[in-house]
Amino acid sequence: MTTPSRITLARQRRGLRISALARDLEVARQTVAAWETGDQIPTAANLAALGERLQFPVEFFTRGDVEPLPIGAVSFRALSKMTASTRDVALAAGRTALLIDEWLAARYRLPEPDVPTLGLQPPEQAAEALRHRWGLGNAPISNMTHLLEAKGVRIFSLPEECRTVDAYSLRWHGTPVVLLTPGKSAERRRFDLAHELAHLVLHAEREHFQGPKAEDEANRFASSFLMPRRGMLGRPLRHATIDMILTERRRWKVAAMALTYRLNELGFLTEWEYRNHCIALSRRGFRRSEPGGINHESSQLLSKITQSLRRKGIGTSQLATQVGVTVEELSSYLLGLVVMPIANNVHAHVAATGDENISPRHLHLA
Ligand SMILES: [Zn+2]
Repeated sequence: MTTPSRITLARQRRGLRISALARDLEVARQTVAAWETGDQIPTAANLAALGERLQFPVEFFTRGDVEPLPIGAVSFRALSKMTASTRDVALAAGRTALLIDEWLAARYRLPEPDVPTLGLQPPEQAAEALRHRWGLGNAPISNMTHLLEAKGVRIFSLPEECRTVDAYSLRWHGTPVVLLTPGKSAERRRFDLAHELAHLVLHAEREHFQGPKAEDEANRFASSFLMPRRGMLGRPLRHATIDMILTERRRWKVAAMALTYRLNELGFLTEWEYRNHCIALSRRGFRRSEPGGINHESSQLLSKITQSLRRKGIGTSQLATQVGVTVEELSSYLLGLVVMPIANNVHAHVAATGDENISPRHLHLA
């Protein structure tokens, strides 16, 4: 038996149209279309060819039905600039990452979601309300990844092909999910997490929230959440120089540009100082990257689980087999979040572990 929705998912994951896949497999376009509607069943040879072309084990196509991620549930930052294929790849990748989550959730007791909806207030107030609810006071957030995981948010990386896509988030059957994009500094990744948290808190229950207004709200929320007004007021940052900004950014673990923007927003800098700082930072490469920045945050949840699995003899390749994907596919969703021994015992991107003052409390074997 094959599951039509899985053929569609795998095809979209590789960014292929039905016609392109049909051509590659040397079958009629109508044949592939019929596989995806369930009107025709692929032969064993067809399935093997599908698996090879789409880089999924044949086993993948025989598992249970998968519900696709709804386009409208996803908060893309630049939806208008994105091609349908790029969007489909990002959505299909997110859906595939959730297959990992489903496998884990069936076996481990994962943290319960505590991400309220606070959409009826200005972003800055919502950020303060959430800080209050989570007992964060006005202190810097030592590790955004650990914090959100402890609050029941599932965080995965999107694969390399999604580099041009922005991070996105959605509530998936009640579980808040964030998909991060590769190739960003640790500071930008933290800001992305705060930005996506904003969408979950402010927008996830609204139907049409994409667009510049929602983006502006999400950025204001993120800025306030990471650099709360009351926490900033106590800092000696009025008319801050570039050197002061470069020191202070490490306290809040934010990009120098984001801090400069926040100082201007709070009225700590004159318009003239703000513009000069932006130009100077830009010249020094701070618009594109974060020279001298912090280490990447790792996932405490996924690290603990993969360690626990390894103790039971389930390594990366066994986990991939269980989930029904290739090792490469599995690793791409965990990249930058977990230290993964991959093929040839080469370690994938090693993420430095940050402070672990907030831990998922309900992580137990089911
Ligand atoms: Zn956004």
